[in-house]
Amino acid sequence: MHIDNRISGKTKIICLIGNPVEHSISPILHNTISRFMDIDLAYVTFKVEKNDLETAVKGLKALNIQGFNITVPYKKEIIKYLDENSKNALLMGAVNTVKYMDGRFYGYNTDADGFLRSFREETGESLMGRKIAIIGAGGAARAIAAKAAMEDAKEICIINRTLSKAQEIAEVVNNNIKKTVSCFCTEDANSLDVLDESEIIINATSIGMYPETEFSPVGSFKGFKKEQIVYDVIYNPGKTKFLADAEKAGCTIINGLGMLFYQAVYAYEIWTGIKLPEDILKNMYISIKEQINI
Ligand code: NDP
Repeated sequence: MHIDNRISGKTKIICLIGNPVEHSISPILHNTISRFMDIDLAYVTFKVEKNDLETAVKGLKALNIQGFNITVPYKKEIIKYLDENSKNALLMGAVNTVKYMDGRFYGYNTDADGFLRSFREETGESLMGRKIAIIGAGGAARAIAAKAAMEDAKEICIINRTLSKAQEIAEVVNNNIKKTVSCFCTEDANSLDVLDESEIIINATSIGMYPETEFSPVGSFKGFKKEQIVYDVIYNPGKTKFLADAEKAGCTIINGLGMLFYQAVYAYEIWTGIKLPEDILKNMYISIKEQINI
C-alpha cells in the first residue's frame, strides 16, 4: 500500500463558500493548477447556510486560511464582512475572491477579468468600440457591463426581465466608469432591435442552465447574424439552446467555461502572488475542456 503524502502539515488551504457548492468544478480547476505548478495548496468547498456567513468568515480568519472564493448567493453580502475591498469589486458590487494577509481579509472580483480574458483568447478580438447587448442584470451582468465600459465599448445595452435592476447597473457604470449603458425590459419590443443591431450578444442570466436546458434567454428570436459574436456565461451545458441557435445562424459562439477558468487563474495568482506561465495555462485549459464532462 502506498502512503498518501499529498497533504501534509504544511499544506495551505483555500476554500469555496456558497450554497450549493456540490456541483462546483472550482476544486478541479484549482487543484489541477496546484498539481501542474507543484504548489502545496489544497482547495475544498464548504456549504454555508444563510445565517452562518459571518460566523464562517470569522472561523476562516481564526484558521489562518490562505484565501477563499465566494459563490452564489453570497458574492454581495460578503463585502460587509471583509476588512477591505478593491475598487473594482465595489463597482461590480460583488466579491468572488478573498486573500488573507497580515490578519486582514481583502476582497476582489476576478469574474470580469475572467470574462474579458476568455473573450480575447477565444475570439482574438477586443471590446473596444463595440456595440454590446447583455441579457440579464444580476452579478455576472454587472461585472461584465463594468468591464466592457472600462474597455471602452461604444454602446452597452442591458436587457432584463426586471428593468429596475438593469437601471441600477446603468447608473453605477454611467456615473463611475463611462456613460455608455442603456437598458430595456425584456418585454419591450425595442429589445429585439437591440439584439439585431449588436455586434456582441452576451447571455448573463441563468436561463438555459442545466437542468432546464430547453430554454433560451431570447426565446425564439430568429435574428442572429453570422457576423455576431454570441457569448453565454453558462458552462453547463457546454452548448446552451441560446448558443446552439446562434451557431445555426453561423455566429461565433463562446461558452462560460473560459470565464470560469480564467477567473480561477486570476484568483490563484492573487492568493499565491505567482504569475502562472502562459504555455502552462494554455495546455491546462485544453485538458480541462477535453476532460470536464459537461
Ligand atoms: P443572479 O441571480 O445575480 O442574476 C440572475 C439573472 O438571471 C437576473 O438578471 C435574472 O432576472 C435573470 N433570470 C433568472 N431566471 C430568469 C427567468 N426565468 N426569466 C428571466 N430572467 C431570469 O445570477 P448571476 O449573475 O450570479 O449568475 C447568472 C449566470 O451566470 C448563472 O448561470 C451563473 O452560473 C453564471 N455565472 C458564470 C460564471 C462563469 O465563470 N462562467 C461566473 C458567474 C456567474 P431578474 O433580475 O429579473 O430576476
